[in-house]
Amino acid sequence: MKLYYYCSSCQKENSFQTKATNRFELQKERGNFINERCTKCGTIVKRRINRVHAKANKWILVLGGIFGILFTAIIFLFVPLIIIVVTNSVIFSVPFIVWREQDKKASNFNKVMVADG
Ligand SMILES: [Zn+2]
Repeated sequence: MKLYYYCSSCQKENSFQTKATNRFELQKERGNFINERCTKCGTIVKRRINRVHAKANKWILVLGGIFGILFTAIIFLFVPLIIIVVTNSVIFSVPFIVWREQDKKASNFNKVMVADG
């Protein structure tokens, strides 16, 4: 999953990919701190595991919405309205379901803290 932290120097949000799905796994993988270079200012950022947070990717909703609209515009020319209504309810709900699933994982990650000395 994708995890986020704020740079101690420029306060910009950075992210990194990890296989860990909770802070215990992240602690096992990285130790008590993550050491990452800020992509905005280049500072090496040392952050406690508990200060790292997860969040759902809102681009899934944006891209899903755009795709849904484009798809509707295209099939509108070829198929009857009733079919458009049915397929659209499926097409627009898929990105939402994926996003909600990520959001659930993210809040599960965020609410469990580790003892990091
Ligand atoms: Zn920075």
